[in-house]
Amino acid sequence: MPRTISISAVVLIALTISLPTSVARAEAPYAFASTPGRLPKNVVPTHYRIDLTPSPDMLTFAGSEVVDIKVLTSTNRVVLNALDMKLRSASLVGEPGQSATITPTPAAESVRLDFAHPLSPGAHKLSIAFTGRINGFGRGLFHVYYPTAQGIRRMIATELEPADARRVFPCWDEPAFKASFEPSITVPRDFLAVSNMPIAREQPVGANLKRVSFGATPRMSTYLFVLVAGNLERLTGDADGVKVGVVAVRGKREQGRFALASAIDLLRYYNDYFGVKYPLPKLDLIAVPGGVGGAMENWGGIVFNESILLFDPGTSPDALRRGIFVVLAHEMAHQWFGDLVTMAWWNDLWLNEGFASWMQNKAADRFHPDWHVWLNDAAQKQSAMDTDARPTAHPIQQAVADETEAQSVFDSITYSKSQAFLRELEDYLGAEQFRTGIRRYMAAHAYSNATTADLWSALTAASGKQVASIAAPYTEQPGIPLVTSDAHCADGRWRLALAQQRFLIRPSKAAAQLWQIPIAFGAPGAGEPAGVILLKDKTMSVAAGRCGAPVKLNFGYTGYYRVEYDTASDSALAKTVETMAPADRVNLLSDDWALLEADRVPVDRYFGLVANVADDRNRAVWERVMSVIARVDDLERGLPGRSAFQACARTRLKPPFARLGWDRRAGESEDDTILRGKLIGQLGALGDSSLIAEARRRFAAFLKDPRSLDANLRGPVIFIAGRYADRATWNQLRALGRKATGTEQRVRYYVALAAAIDPALAKQALALTLTDEVPSEIANGIIMEVAAGEHPEMALAFVKANFDALSDKRGPYFRSFFMSSLMSHFADRKYAEELARFAPVHETPGGRIAAARAAEEIIEAADFRTHQIAAIDAWINRHSPAA
Ligand SMILES: [Zn+2]
Repeated sequence: MPRTISISAVVLIALTISLPTSVARAEAPYAFASTPGRLPKNVVPTHYRIDLTPSPDMLTFAGSEVVDIKVLTSTNRVVLNALDMKLRSASLVGEPGQSATITPTPAAESVRLDFAHPLSPGAHKLSIAFTGRINGFGRGLFHVYYPTAQGIRRMIATELEPADARRVFPCWDEPAFKASFEPSITVPRDFLAVSNMPIAREQPVGANLKRVSFGATPRMSTYLFVLVAGNLERLTGDADGVKVGVVAVRGKREQGRFALASAIDLLRYYNDYFGVKYPLPKLDLIAVPGGVGGAMENWGGIVFNESILLFDPGTSPDALRRGIFVVLAHEMAHQWFGDLVTMAWWNDLWLNEGFASWMQNKAADRFHPDWHVWLNDAAQKQSAMDTDARPTAHPIQQAVADETEAQSVFDSITYSKSQAFLRELEDYLGAEQFRTGIRRYMAAHAYSNATTADLWSALTAASGKQVASIAAPYTEQPGIPLVTSDAHCADGRWRLALAQQRFLIRPSKAAAQLWQIPIAFGAPGAGEPAGVILLKDKTMSVAAGRCGAPVKLNFGYTGYYRVEYDTASDSALAKTVETMAPADRVNLLSDDWALLEADRVPVDRYFGLVANVADDRNRAVWERVMSVIARVDDLERGLPGRSAFQACARTRLKPPFARLGWDRRAGESEDDTILRGKLIGQLGALGDSSLIAEARRRFAAFLKDPRSLDANLRGPVIFIAGRYADRATWNQLRALGRKATGTEQRVRYYVALAAAIDPALAKQALALTLTDEVPSEIANGIIMEVAAGEHPEMALAFVKANFDALSDKRGPYFRSFFMSSLMSHFADRKYAEELARFAPVHETPGGRIAAARAAEEIIEAADFRTHQIAAIDAWINRHSPAA
């Protein structure tokens, strides 16, 4: 099968010649003293011995710790982080009379310890007693209630990134304050407790409890600390002498087989790739049935929502294996990039997330080339490119003032733009040189911190190229370049007039920017690019071979830029779109849609292009088409043209569905299986009546005999049942959701019942989020689904009316960020104004940033709705078959 074309060799030759030697304005290499942050740097921790005892109801805990500290300059005052906890006492061990006066400073999420006598420079031991909360909102130390065949069970776990270790124990909770940790916890005798390191010893406490003590970790950042305890069991294997385990709630261990086998492969691969062996004696993959939505790369104890770690052959769709592998590859890459070498401060979060996102695909491509992960991951890249086309886009390297701002940089720019950029950079440097640079970086900064400048200098040393000068325009300035290409034929040869500018969906006064853009070009369908040039000035003229076939830019679609062609080239490319490699087809569809959004090309051009892929057999191509259909359908809500649009969209999606049919054929590709499910889901959402009837028939059969419904069809069939549910069906879905013991199934039922078109049922779905029936991430998902379905205003009114109650249950991140996420789906300028007036989101710096971004998204959608929907409607009227 064709793989994504590597352009490394050609780029290397072309760029070695033209690369400028100027050094860009990069930040400084890592130095503790100059690292940003809010804590004073005159006292540093070196080792924490922590002891926690949860209360019998598991709503609070008592804790004590002895922290080995190093005083760098003599001081009476020690400042460290503590949040939502009470410090009972603080004193220096072995230094009589040195009990501290404790002053909480909640606005800074810290506490001040003032001593009667100055602490001399050197080593001291600080002993602190404290009490804290075990909360229900998935931050700090939290509890999870989950259904089992024997009834509801409870467990506890931690989630600390970016800055919630301070909820579990008083600490220097910034990534540059690395130390070792030696925790112990008292739990019921039948619990299994898991932390970063293996258990050192267990001692009985009273009749029913035990105290579990863990070995000391290597030096690491606080946000990577983990403690999980519950009725758990472990499945184990071995990889290069490291004990790899999947930890799940009792009864689900066997569902960890796929993850365990994958983790063993990945650990061996990474040991080789990074040139530094995984340094801990064990690695646990811990499946938690709620509380956290995704996964967290705690060193030696990665926590996953169990829906993305466990695979149940009876109920999980085949494609779930891909999701599990990719998330696992991401979190395991962090064991090196993030855990062993940590970004100095959150402004360089991309060093963690961009790298892990790039490595997840590289590893998936290595072990599962038939998944075509780069091609099928196009949606991620699009999401980053869309975000980057707004004036509110931030650079990959983004100044971060505090913890709430840190939270706001966990976005598609940090993950997916960085991922795309690293792919480009690896291509440019060559895979071998790139890896040599990474190994050098790992060896130089192990157990310590690093900045982007450190990465560039390692890559420069390995490759002999000035990496900073090509990288800085991508990481230090926001935005995505637009390359315009004007092709002229003279004396039988193509000449391209190229120019670059920042691409923006809405006109804005952004400053002029330049990038150094490696541009591969060639004839559609050619196996290799005809050439690669580096566009580094504003304009450039390029010879591009004999006239004839049009010239396609961003050949192979490995570049991070948009292309706008002259009209003749564009229509010639549209006519030859089916001869191109799938990645180039996806690229053309994506760019033409973005240009339409920016009002740079007419509606006809995009819809003409879509008509030319009617017979396409590629999942990635159809997913691009379907994402536009979903977007337009959303913007058409409440407008007169919606039913004609939906009819037109159904006509477009019928041919690929007719090819695939309802039932899986022997030997079909997994991409076809995945595409079938997505087509059914979208045709159902677009109101295809015969398809809906068939989905309902299959749902009814499923209720009688669950085995009658192929695991790959459960998602779309159950979703359609929910969307068109009457009260009886809705009640059935809820009963299934309450009974389901697997998180993946549970999510599916609750999302389906939240999609109900019947407003009374949608309202009832919202009301569930105020109860304890579902964990916080499912509750948030219900509200989002009601908004994304047919009732955005209802969802908004509900959140406004219950904001305090919801915030109490879901915690501070909900308060700062949820409203902005919710309202970014709206397409009327009045909501941007409403968000600007909604006080809670403006209480924190991070909340304000998220609100500004959401407002821009709303305005962009509102403008599109005002200006382009009518043109789309007119196109549909002209092209609809006569009624
Ligand atoms: Zn990550």
